[in-house]
Amino acid sequence: MDMGIAGRRALVCAASKGLGKACALALAREGVHVTITARGSQALEATAEEIRRATGVTVTAVAGDITTEEGRAAALAACPDPDILVNNAGGPPPGDFRDWDRDDWLKAIDANMLTPIFLIKATVDGMIARNFGRIVTITSGQVKAPNIPTLGLSTGARSGYTGFSAVVARQVAKHNVTINNLLPGAFATDRLNATLASAAKAAGRTVEEEVARRAAATPAGRIGDPDEFGAMCAFLCSAQAGFVTGQNIMLDGGAYPGVF
Ligand code: NAP
Repeated sequence: MDMGIAGRRALVCAASKGLGKACALALAREGVHVTITARGSQALEATAEEIRRATGVTVTAVAGDITTEEGRAAALAACPDPDILVNNAGGPPPGDFRDWDRDDWLKAIDANMLTPIFLIKATVDGMIARNFGRIVTITSGQVKAPNIPTLGLSTGARSGYTGFSAVVARQVAKHNVTINNLLPGAFATDRLNATLASAAKAAGRTVEEEVARRAAATPAGRIGDPDEFGAMCAFLCSAQAGFVTGQNIMLDGGAYPGVF
């Protein structure tokens, strides 16, 4: 299927690894020119080169922390008028809500609520003027089905963003600008591998046993492949997806037990 976005420009945040990288690669495979960001420049440059070689599109790499004003300014200077914005950043650390003070909350809100809000604010009017825009934010399955007690900072901040995005999606829909969120369950990325390794250590199991337990807890019987995540992101950014907006889409192998 031709997704009708070849030649468009995308800003994909936090994309040297994992789900962000998978989104950038899937968009690049559709002929979209991508600007990718991450804090560490070594992995970022390697990913930029990998995407260039695989797809032939223009890939611009911008090193910086997207959760800071300077990081966002650098990303927007390199890609001032994206047609596609993929919001992503690392998640806040897990813990017990009794231990989190105001600073911990402000950091989480900065990273996982205000960062996507300010990036939308900076780019959405250009999308409206060009009568095309696709905004996809990577949040978490925990926003819809919060069952991991240690993820309160992440779930709280991302839920705030989710409410905001629902409001703005309805304001901009008539200009062919869509705003949707992708809610990952367990995907095989560095972050998940680190989480599983520490859970395995705490429980006295091997990492392989922990991976098998996590896979068995999912109806699909396995952990997700980041390429599957990237493909869904690319579809939401396609010309054909213009009537899909304001949605929160679970990608979790059937783990969420509800119908809607
Ligand atoms: P990952 O494999 O650790 O990759 C994270 C990527 O984001 C890296 O490229 C990292 O590069 C970059 N990054 C992190 N913080 C950044 C920042 N402040 N500014 C710019 N770049 C930043 O993580 P992932 O598994 O893809 O997770 C992506 C998001 O999905 C996270 O918010 C995570 O909480 C959420 N999530 C993931 C899963 C899962 O199963 N994988 C499940 C639920 C939710 P640098 O470190 O060099 O900056």
